[in-house]
Amino acid sequence: MQRFHTQYTERNSIGLEGVLELEMEVVSDYLHVGSGVYDVEIIKPLENIDQLVETALKGTIPDVNKYFSPVTHEMNRYLGKVIIPGSTIKGLVRTRLELSIRDACFIVSRNSNTSSAAYKRIFRNPRPRPTDRFPQRVCPVCDLLGNSGLASKVSFSDFIMTQGKVDYVNVNGQYYESCVKGSRFRGKVLYRSLKPIELGMLLYGFGFRDKKLEGKVMLIGRFKYSDRRFGRVRFSLPSPKQEYVKALEDFVRTFKPFDYNEEW
Ligand SMILES: [Zn+2]
Repeated sequence: MQRFHTQYTERNSIGLEGVLELEMEVVSDYLHVGSGVYDVEIIKPLENIDQLVETALKGTIPDVNKYFSPVTHEMNRYLGKVIIPGSTIKGLVRTRLELSIRDACFIVSRNSNTSSAAYKRIFRNPRPRPTDRFPQRVCPVCDLLGNSGLASKVSFSDFIMTQGKVDYVNVNGQYYESCVKGSRFRGKVLYRSLKPIELGMLLYGFGFRDKKLEGKVMLIGRFKYSDRRFGRVRFSLPSPKQEYVKALEDFVRTFKPFDYNEEW
């Protein structure tokens, strides 16, 4: 039985409460995090639709492509600003923690279902196969981030673009609205009832490793495993606090987490 298990047997209301402020910088050429909606705009009114139909009925297929703009995949927006949904950021943190912590259950990673070679190279790993090793006790990642039967102790805001610009990048004939290198986002994580070591876990999940509190490069968004121009970001802490370093060091010492190099 590993030492940390006993620290996770009780939930109580005493603990750290606060806000972790984060900045995220795009360090690859582009970043596209989709909204799941894509737009095909009609760029010419179909005034002559009768004629088009008639042409078709006569057996000639009319060329309608010129009436439509190419497929364009938009980013998410809120009040006019480009955002990365908080749920996407939470997913990023959760996958890394599930892969890093021995015996954590595998809620996200198990369903990721990717067969990408780059993914396997990075994360096929020292980590053993998926297990549910916490029959009576809650796994540390679920205890922090919640699962279907357990409230999360942290909530992630959307990350709002504060600097940079977007470009439309053609990938295989479709256009992806993408934030260019150097673009920056701001967001926060609200936490409550955290043990210091869990604050350390959260920081680790964002790619912080040691007292320098410099985020490592992490992969996120579309094409992150297939096109090197896309999907690399780095988190930083605009207002680092003394307690972060200690929390992180406590976490690393206790959990001895696996680490991954996401540069490929
Ligand atoms: Zn879990």
